[in-house]
Amino acid sequence: MDKSISDAVELLYKGAKMLSQHCLDCKMPLFKHEDKIICPSCKKEFKMDENGNVKPLTKKIKNNEKINKKEENIFYKTNELNNILKDKLYFLIKEMKNCNDVNKLEYYICLSLKLIDLIERLSKL
Ligand SMILES: [Zn+2]
Repeated sequence: MDKSISDAVELLYKGAKMLSQHCLDCKMPLFKHEDKIICPSCKKEFKMDENGNVKPLTKKIKNNEKINKKEENIFYKTNELNNILKDKLYFLIKEMKNCNDVNKLEYYICLSLKLIDLIERLSKL
């Protein structure tokens, strides 16, 4: 709280105007500085409509959320692929355990190596 008060004082010193509206999150009085409405405590930016109601400025945050969701999606898919490949690798190794046919073994090993390579490449995505 002390920090936000000193930040508020600094804003006033810079020529910001204290508004009658309060931050929706921390209830600190909002400040208008260079056409921006800011909360000195949580550093959030707000906008005011014609009726003097403040709303958080969400445009930038929304875009970030979209990017985060996209990243999450890629992560989730990569993880899922990884699990499938590891499942197949496990299956191949189990098959090898009971296999005494050299040709088949060679085939399994070759497939396993490809799978390991794929898993490795996937982890670099
Ligand atoms: Zn705040």
